[in-house]
Amino acid sequence: MAQAQEMRSPIESGCPDGFQYMHPVMRRNFGMWDHHDHPAPGVLYHESETGEGIWTVRAGTQRILDVFTLRTLCDIGDQYGDGYVRFTTRSNIEYMVDSEAKVEPLVKALEDAGFVVGGTQNSVTMISHTQGWLHCDIPGTDASGVVKAMMDELIDEFRNTNMPNRVHMTTSCCQINCGGQGDIAINVQHTKPPKINHDLVANVCERPSVVARCPVAAIRPAVVNGKPSLEVDEQKCMCCGACFPPCPPMQINDAEHTKLSIWVGGNHSNARGKPTFQKLVASGIPNNPPRWPEATAIVKRILRTYQEDGRDWERINDWIERIGWPEFFNKTGLPFTRYHVDNWRGSRNSLNASAHIRQ
Ligand code: SF4
Ligand code: SF4
Repeated sequence: MAQAQEMRSPIESGCPDGFQYMHPVMRRNFGMWDHHDHPAPGVLYHESETGEGIWTVRAGTQRILDVFTLRTLCDIGDQYGDGYVRFTTRSNIEYMVDSEAKVEPLVKALEDAGFVVGGTQNSVTMISHTQGWLHCDIPGTDASGVVKAMMDELIDEFRNTNMPNRVHMTTSCCQINCGGQGDIAINVQHTKPPKINHDLVANVCERPSVVARCPVAAIRPAVVNGKPSLEVDEQKCMCCGACFPPCPPMQINDAEHTKLSIWVGGNHSNARGKPTFQKLVASGIPNNPPRWPEATAIVKRILRTYQEDGRDWERINDWIERIGWPEFFNKTGLPFTRYHVDNWRGSRNSLNASAHIRQ
């Protein structure tokens, strides 16, 4: 223990030693937590083998925070908490306090300042999202905007714990990079191959890098109008968008043909069953800022059906596993189309197509 509390020497890359930022109760009891409890939505209690306890109050944030909001959050932590905060991977802020008496005033201060306390246990917690138009150079939509629009409508599901189990949602603003497995994921879906701006390719792109980037070998070097350029075999192209980052003249973002898709049943955890990949359940949804009503309506429909039909503590993937995919489509009323069938030629490698029994 004593050793773990010594600060390690700084290294040039990577995150700093986390122990220096931890609440003293957490530092003293590192590795000795005995059990935890959920006294109220948005509040967690952890007790150590030594008998010491710590309360955590969780509030949602919009992730991309201006300095004034950050200062407000920090001031609340200094005034009503013990001066220690941390952010979760889903952009919630957590305040740790060493006494139960501090919890209620802290929750009130957060709510009075307009923050929403919740996101614990069997709630819909904050959507984990990627950068969108604000920071990244390749998005087909604004992930942060989708999150804001959806969480405005799911505020009661964040505040209360009325889902069968926890719901993790993710959004991803391109098809290839960040994002992640989610119980429900809202991802960009390009539906047309890139249009090439031949005038710019020779000035902007390293052609071999672009050719190498394509996962289905659909790009070839070509000479167009006497200039070195590229061509795309549209029969092979699966509209993934991977050629756009190394070569912006491969224009794939399109107001009409860049859509949203919804995937369900992804789960990193192996607490009760194996981790699972999410699967496509709705595609071709209009990418319709600023409120994305069509995508939000589908997400709400899936959540309502899960809420009514899921058994206690079933995650979305467990629920679908129990009722089967045909019933999932029946119960949610989502149409099952040919686009839900994984007919990509490379899928043979990812499907268990052999007759051999494997462990
Ligand atoms: S998901 Fe794609 S577009 Fe969005 S931030 Fe990540 S790399 Fe950029
Ligand atoms: S969109 Fe994807 S599949 Fe199509 S050409 Fe670009 S990298 Fe290849």
